[in-house]
Amino acid sequence: MSGVSQKILDSMEASSWIRKMFEEGAKRAAEIGAENVFDFSIGNPVFEPPKEVNEALAQLATIDTGGLHRYMPNQGLPETRDYIAGKLNSETGLGLTNNEIIMSVGAGGGLNTVLKALLNPSEEVIVLVPYFVEYDHYISNHGGVHKRVETNEDFSLNFENIAAAINKRTKAIIINSPNNPTGVVYSATELQQLGQLLLKKSAEIGHTITLLSDEPYRRISYVGELPNILNHYKNSIIITSFSKDLALPGERIGYMAVHPEHAEKDLLIQAAVIALRILGFVNAPAIWQRVLPMIGDAMVDLTPYQANKDILVNGLREMGYQVTEPGGAFYLFVKSPIADDAEFIALAQKENLLLVPGRAFGRPGYFRISFCFATEKIEKSLPIFQKLIVSL
Ligand code: PLP
Repeated sequence: MSGVSQKILDSMEASSWIRKMFEEGAKRAAEIGAENVFDFSIGNPVFEPPKEVNEALAQLATIDTGGLHRYMPNQGLPETRDYIAGKLNSETGLGLTNNEIIMSVGAGGGLNTVLKALLNPSEEVIVLVPYFVEYDHYISNHGGVHKRVETNEDFSLNFENIAAAINKRTKAIIINSPNNPTGVVYSATELQQLGQLLLKKSAEIGHTITLLSDEPYRRISYVGELPNILNHYKNSIIITSFSKDLALPGERIGYMAVHPEHAEKDLLIQAAVIALRILGFVNAPAIWQRVLPMIGDAMVDLTPYQANKDILVNGLREMGYQVTEPGGAFYLFVKSPIADDAEFIALAQKENLLLVPGRAFGRPGYFRISFCFATEKIEKSLPIFQKLIVSL
């Protein structure tokens, strides 16, 4: 018997496709040169953060008043949380204070914190297929069970399916707009309808269903400013990070924002704070909390993302691929020309084109392209996609 936990051994066995492809990409790059590998497997932007980030870091390095690196209040630095509450207020008009904001180590850390605060053993969390499958691990970390619910053909919300999945064990639902892997964004009408359904169902089952809105791609939008969930469902929590919009995935900085009228707001915030401590996160790295209020509205330049999206959507459609145009994020979820998505991925891999099969997101028969890479690289990959579809 191994000394390693059986649960972890099982997770290793089912190891994330995304990571597997990412590792394959690094191996092939070492063998044949990075310029010859089209590793579109992972959402790890090649673009640098906006210049304001480095300027703020440089300025912080010269501060000699001390105390820069100390522990801070449990929820994070008050001035950082003021800044975030201010931003959310200008979007929602809801009058959040820094009390409703809790800093976290990325969205991944925030989701684990909130799930730990919410879940009793065997309680269910609805996830909307296709989805970021790390949610399964995050939910089971805290004794919960993920309940998969299919979206519509165009990946919009299917309210009948959601309603049918809700039962007495339902504790929460996770939504993700803009979505990984589909790039779909939910309209204000959809969010409003979802909020109404959750209110009705919460009354029926006799407890609150909390909505967790995972939003790391919120500002990577091709359709303008997106509706805010806080304006559509009071029992919601935003969980997000600056991994994508500031291109800082390695720095682990994000936050949770609890709706000021959440049914159990105060208790939930206290629970999240203790969960942060139990998980050993404390909250988020101090330097990055200090950087945020110093950089205003700065964010990554969306121009290359927009260009990459257009090149791929138009190029692949012309070749005969079935593509849903993303409204945000930097992924394309494309119908596999053959039914077996894993087989298609293996064929692409032979051409040094690394993609992720739809089954890695709970929806076989598709593949995901991550396009947070140089436009030249995207352009050079088109003949490979062409060769693949012609050969099939
Ligand atoms: N949620 C979604 C949908 C993601 O795609 C990712 C990362 O790719 C995360 C959460 C986790 O992001 P982070 O923990 O870096 O904020």
